[in-house]
Amino acid sequence: MTAPQNLTRAACAARDAADPLAPLREQFDLPAGVNYLDGNSLGVLPRATAARVQDVVTQEWGQGLIRSWNSAGWIDLPRRVGDKIGRLVGAAPGELVVADSTSVNLFKVLSAAARIAQANDPARRVIVSERSNFPTDLYIAESVAAQHGMVLELHEIDAIPARLAQAADVAVLMLTQVNYRSGRMADMATVTAQAHAAGALMLWDLAHSAGAVPVDLNGANADFAVGCGYKYLNGGPGAPAFCWAHPRHADRFWQPLSGWMGHAAPFVFEPGYRPAPGMQRYLCGTPQVIGMSALECGVNTVLAAEPLGGMAALRAKSVALSELFIALVRQELAHSGLSIHTPLDPAQRGSQVSLGVPADGSVDGYAVMQALIARGVIGDYRAGDGTAAEPHLLRFGFTPLYTRFVDVFDAIQTLADVLASGEWREARFMAKAAVT
Ligand SMILES: *Cc1c(COP(=O)(O)O)cnc(C)c1O
Repeated sequence: MTAPQNLTRAACAARDAADPLAPLREQFDLPAGVNYLDGNSLGVLPRATAARVQDVVTQEWGQGLIRSWNSAGWIDLPRRVGDKIGRLVGAAPGELVVADSTSVNLFKVLSAAARIAQANDPARRVIVSERSNFPTDLYIAESVAAQHGMVLELHEIDAIPARLAQAADVAVLMLTQVNYRSGRMADMATVTAQAHAAGALMLWDLAHSAGAVPVDLNGANADFAVGCGYKYLNGGPGAPAFCWAHPRHADRFWQPLSGWMGHAAPFVFEPGYRPAPGMQRYLCGTPQVIGMSALECGVNTVLAAEPLGGMAALRAKSVALSELFIALVRQELAHSGLSIHTPLDPAQRGSQVSLGVPADGSVDGYAVMQALIARGVIGDYRAGDGTAAEPHLLRFGFTPLYTRFVDVFDAIQTLADVLASGEWREARFMAKAAVT
């Protein structure tokens, strides 16, 4: 744990003034009066994006028309933006491509992993994941398992090493490195080694890792990975996602969405499928040019930290922000009934902290978050089953590119106010919207 902190607003402002990463915030257009702590769900708008998208639309599309596939490099976007993301997650140039959504990419790489595992040893018929993994990952895994005659088994994260050791039947271990609910972070190298020792392939979802914590896919010797473009990479709503396969696997199997952009020669227009070499085969259809151009602007905001120490420096600030948040929760909210549902050891924590609402139902977490948002403090709410083990959560994400120490201080003050005043009990905060 870090040393006791000086928990005043003035001390927080002094930390911002001394923060070498503070200028990175100027890359973004943050609305006035908003304290945004939800970059783990949707990153903020980079200043460069609107002009870039306008240029893509009016010049590259409007003037260049179809010529822009070559002259504006549209056809290279999946690989070019992929190489940039690769720098953030320990993938070499050419190893990572941008395409489709996280869910679709997971389908592709999990299918490849299942086929490779089955080719190696047909007796391995189990895909293992974490019970509280993000549901879309589990839904996709259910479907892939069914297609390959496999079963999906879900376990509590702490029970997975024993499950791996129990029998030589696990084909693939599929985990999200940073759990979307608890913010708990797995040690990628250790868990990958456990999977390999059990003869299983290791697939990582980096949705809450890429751009938030240092990741070294090759260093960890992982097998496959996917990740999200619109969270810490600031690519915009519905931004394309990415996928990676270790080079030892990339050519072994072609993923089932065998579209023409993954063909060895898409513009030869031959009737039979021949997969492109390497990761190109993980593309399916035509790249989403406008979305990928916006994503590139978002990725550039993270790469802008490279001269300032890169992901290691961003991680150090992220830990400092979440340590401050936890210390302030203990100081200001000790009697609120809220619990800290995120590991206290920063090494086991991603870039978010989740607060559990009391299991006795005395606080409505959804309404508290709505009241906070009404005051300009934006986090989000994730329902659990309401027990102490799986409480309803208030989630707060800390994006070190733009979150300041004073933002953390102000958020806690506002939360303390909302709880003490009971203003969250107002009827207008109870009405549930379609998206939480
Ligand atoms: C955000 C997130 C996704 C999003 O998937 P989409 O296909 O983009 O909707 C998937 N998995 C995890 C773990 C996530 O956190």
